[in-house]
Amino acid sequence: MNEVGADADAGGRIVKYLSCARCSRGCHLTVSVCGDRISVAGNACSNGEDYGRQEAMEPLRPLLTTVATDNPLHPRLAVRSERDFPLSRVLEAMEALDAIIARAPLKTGDVLVENLLGTGIRIVARADLPLTSGR
Ligand code: SF4
Repeated sequence: MNEVGADADAGGRIVKYLSCARCSRGCHLTVSVCGDRISVAGNACSNGEDYGRQEAMEPLRPLLTTVATDNPLHPRLAVRSERDFPLSRVLEAMEALDAIIARAPLKTGDVLVENLLGTGIRIVARADLPLTSGR
């Protein structure tokens, strides 16, 4: 998590304190949300403003997990989302991926899920999955 704190004032304004994760400088951002108005302070560049706005509206994270396979010698296959996934839907995504069985053979980067939960985000293999010997 990159959120390091949050406050709310009597006017309904929510202030979040974040570390920008877009580069190693890690600027400390203050993101104020009042209705549909969002302002970002503390960023040294425009990437930080984009990051703060995204975190306020819909935080995204890389989705990294494993799925079951049909190869008993390699019973789990590491997978990832091709781009960052909505944080609010990660548990739902994990449940959906629990039902997946990766069928060998697969190569790193092969697509296992084309459109996870209707987000348009693909799930791809992070490793090769060989056929079981003798098949
Ligand atoms: S605001 Fe810009 S300089 Fe600062 S951490 Fe984010 S990307 Fe890096």
